Amino acid sequence: MEFATKLIHAGIEPDPTTGAVMTPIFQTSTYAQTSPGVHKGYEYSRTHNPTRTVLQNNLAALENGKYGICFATGLAATDAVMKILKPGDEVVASSDLYGGTYRLFTKVFQEFGIKFHFVKIQSGEDIIPFLNSNTKLVWVETPTNPLLQIVDILSLSSVTNQKGLLLAVDNTFATPFLQNPLSLGADIVMHSLTKYMAGHSDVVMGALIVKDDALHQKLAFIQNATGATPGPMDCFLVLRGLKTLHVRMERHCQNGREIADWLYRHPKVGHVYYPGLPHHVGHALASSQMNDFGGMVSFTLKNDDLAEAVKLMENLKLFTLAESLGGVESLCTHPASMTHASIPKEEREKNGLKDTLIRLSVGLEDIKDLKEDLSQAIG
Ligand SMILES: *Cc1c(COP(=O)(O)O)cnc(C)c1O
Repeated sequence: MEFATKLIHAGIEPDPTTGAVMTPIFQTSTYAQTSPGVHKGYEYSRTHNPTRTVLQNNLAALENGKYGICFATGLAATDAVMKILKPGDEVVASSDLYGGTYRLFTKVFQEFGIKFHFVKIQSGEDIIPFLNSNTKLVWVETPTNPLLQIVDILSLSSVTNQKGLLLAVDNTFATPFLQNPLSLGADIVMHSLTKYMAGHSDVVMGALIVKDDALHQKLAFIQNATGATPGPMDCFLVLRGLKTLHVRMERHCQNGREIADWLYRHPKVGHVYYPGLPHHVGHALASSQMNDFGGMVSFTLKNDDLAEAVKLMENLKLFTLAESLGGVESLCTHPASMTHASIPKEEREKNGLKDTLIRLSVGLEDIKDLKEDLSQAIG
């Protein structure tokens, strides 16, 4: 089945009891049993819920995996992966990460005795010096948030598979429309479904997708045992959003590319971070690893003046100044004070994240209006 068809049909059948074409919202906490322990596969909604099951099966198909496992938020999904580790285990993680992921690793799991190495990762070679007999997991994002760096998943997985390590890829920025990490040898795909996947800025949710039966068992056990599961109404909203993912992503990519080109040629703009631009260091890799370049664009002003960058963000009218990304509406974020404030300034700067960086989530509005808005805000 091709991707567009999967979005609309994979794991989704009309409801057998009523014929309802849309997956019903099974707003129930519990299920009748005919005899103790005799039921239809559903006992309690933390463990299983039919609306969630449909979403999980759909996600598994979209990522060319076997199992989807949904969580109340993206961070709860990441949290579940960390809980398969033990004190003394070590993780090699990319140094350019979503701020909340960095906070979860350093402020929660480091306290429990897990050791993290934050490394600039572009390919498999970069992790080799940080591996030892305690290393269990490698965690990356690609494209990264907010610098849009590209990590070579195939090259990383050739190292992790050979050494028997798990490779987890946060695929939030790309979505399965642009790349499938499991098909490139990764073991776990993580999504903040909050972003492009649900796509309408009206729900917060996360997911893991895996192929391996034993790994699925461990993660599904944690999903039920620790209990950060999403409700059925939210699962319905994500299913509804996913039906148009391909159509939305095409336009996000088109608008993203136009905005990146336009910024690149603007005399007051300094650096533009967009993997679709030929000068981007990851451009060749992105061209082969991804189907297109996405709708996220970061940039700085030529004078690198923080007060001017702040004024620009205040001046924007169509781009709403807000955290998050991937919705139909365009958003603007100041990573240093918003999404990445939980990373210490010196760490941020070491990784190339300047306080003057502005991050755009380019939405689906008319490109002419978006350019006009940026133009008046830059002044
Ligand atoms: C938003 C985000 C997360 C966290 O997901 P939540 O749904 O907000 O918990 C993780 N990774 C990336 C890349 C994100 O953008």
